[in-house]
Amino acid sequence: MPHVKIGITVLEAMPRLLPKMSEKTSAKVKQRLEKLGVKVLLNEKVESASQDGLKVNGKPLKSHTVIWTSGVANNPFFSENAEHFELAKNGKVIVDEYMRTNDGIYVIGDNAATSFSGLAQTALHDAKFVASNIKRRKSGGKAKKYKAVLPPVVIPLGENWAVFEWHWMKLYGWPASLLRRAADLVGYTDILPLGQALGQWHAQTIVEDDYFTPAPPKKKK
Ligand SMILES: Cc1cc2nc3c(=O)[nH]c(=O)nc-3n(C[C@H](O)[C@H](O)[C@H](O)COP(=O)(O)OP(=O)(O)OC[C@H]3O[C@@H](n4cnc5c(N)ncnc54)[C@H](O)[C@@H]3O)c2cc1C
Repeated sequence: MPHVKIGITVLEAMPRLLPKMSEKTSAKVKQRLEKLGVKVLLNEKVESASQDGLKVNGKPLKSHTVIWTSGVANNPFFSENAEHFELAKNGKVIVDEYMRTNDGIYVIGDNAATSFSGLAQTALHDAKFVASNIKRRKSGGKAKKYKAVLPPVVIPLGENWAVFEWHWMKLYGWPASLLRRAADLVGYTDILPLGQALGQWHAQTIVEDDYFTPAPPKKKK
């Protein structure tokens, strides 16, 4: 049975995709998506959404399926307990150079208003930083000041294609996708025994392309 042909449109409110990354990377990602057949519309702010369509810049846009991917908001816990937390414009908690609030509460990871918050690597960096400072204090040492560290970012875009960006380094295409595969393996080995990690990692290469294949007819008894 032939695959059902679907059209995918990405709507982005900003003038470019991935606005936190370089302009070159934004352009490459747009090009790649278009090559894959995805329509990319920029400066298009979604005003409302329903199951079968959107309102975009005042105009209706029909869609069979709507997938909302506009990011994550900070945990409402902090605004609900505003007497203990000072919030930045983006709703994240302002912390001092030791990652503490005025009340001495440590806030780390996605919730902290640091330069690269919102990434797993930053959350891990923050956790290690706070743990080592607690250890230092316990043994009578002086606590270190927090330094935000820019994590490398690798984003896969279809099979054997990715973008990699870190400081001035940029890679596009299959070399970046190899890096992503390597990063995935490291990630799996962080949380699984080696054998299972390799199994999970290998499972990523299995392309599941039979979503639209109907189930075989039941045999008559
Ligand atoms: C779809 C998706 C894909 C992502 N992909 C990547 C990626 O490829 N690379 C990357 O670096 N980052 C990625 N991230 C971001 C990454 O997951 C986060 O930056 C990271 O998990 C943040 O860690 P955290 O410990 O700050 O918060 P979390 O991992 O969100 O942990 C917070 C925990 O607190 C719990 N919690 C919330 N409220 C309460 C409460 N009141 N009491 C008790 N517990 C509570 C939550 O249930 C949750 O388990 C992705 C995020 C998403 C959503």
